[in-house]
Amino acid sequence: MNAPGGLIKQTRSLIEKIESRYEIPCYLVSDSCFGICDTVDDDVQRLDADLALHIGHNAVVQKVGMFTHLIDAKDDVKFDSVIEKCIPLIGGYKRIGLATFSQHIDQLESARKQFEKAGFEVRLGEANNLLLQSQTFGCDFSTIFPISKEVDVFCYLGDSEFHAVGVALATGKPTYLLDPYLDEVRDMKEEAEERRKRAILAVYKALDARVFGVVTGLKEGQRMLGRSRWITKRLEMQGRKVIQLAMRDITPDRLAPYRDIEAFVQTACPRISIDGFTFERPVLSIPQAEALVKLMEGREVGEFLERPKWIELTVGMIPSSKSR
Ligand code: SF4
Repeated sequence: MNAPGGLIKQTRSLIEKIESRYEIPCYLVSDSCFGICDTVDDDVQRLDADLALHIGHNAVVQKVGMFTHLIDAKDDVKFDSVIEKCIPLIGGYKRIGLATFSQHIDQLESARKQFEKAGFEVRLGEANNLLLQSQTFGCDFSTIFPISKEVDVFCYLGDSEFHAVGVALATGKPTYLLDPYLDEVRDMKEEAEERRKRAILAVYKALDARVFGVVTGLKEGQRMLGRSRWITKRLEMQGRKVIQLAMRDITPDRLAPYRDIEAFVQTACPRISIDGFTFERPVLSIPQAEALVKLMEGREVGEFLERPKWIELTVGMIPSSKSR
């Protein structure tokens, strides 16, 4: 069983219940778990287990890989009060897009009604083969990206600045975070702009590097061998030396020993690069690496973070009947 840090307490109590009620031994796999990419299907056989439960990253699919079942975790906290606070702040806009993450999907409809009652036109993003209606991951905005041209502003339900900043960056739209716990509304403009500038700066810094490390992630949903090979080839065509690395967790400590490498490209979680303020050398995500290649080839880079997905997650998907 594995779960993100915020759900470890609940997961431990679930394990205790399963063990006492069914007398089935359970392991809590304690490596880092940040997203649906962090499933532990490969560990099932290593641990001589029969199946894996991945808690808290709800999706359209219910089973991934050979052994892993996704277990939804929902929060029934209400947004009524924070929406009332938001309404005057976004009074200059007419058309709202709503977005949220796994835990608050069930609050979308009541939020929509409340905004409509206040006179706004509200749009939700359509579910797709992975994401539920208006759901986003930190790297995948493919539900709401298609409606971004039809709305003036996004309202993000939840307390996750991480997710809301992603929406602001990927859509280029004003985005407000509606935090139901602090009962507070926050404009993501500054946070998004800071990350956007840092992302561009890292690309230009990497332009001068002669030796690159291309890091392929070893997490189950982030195996981007094709992108790693593509980027390696393009860098080599531009006369750069490339050292290929593979690792599970990409941190400043893990990269520190490779002193001769002047810049890194990592094809695992894009947020490691976009939110990674502690790296000393440039560590580019896939969209940044693609921008770098364009620059090297004398092409315009444009708004390279504005796209529906920053990574094509490779979680082994098996479709299920749950469609919303
Ligand atoms: S790759 Fe995507 S789903 Fe995985 S941790 Fe990063 S943002 Fe989240």
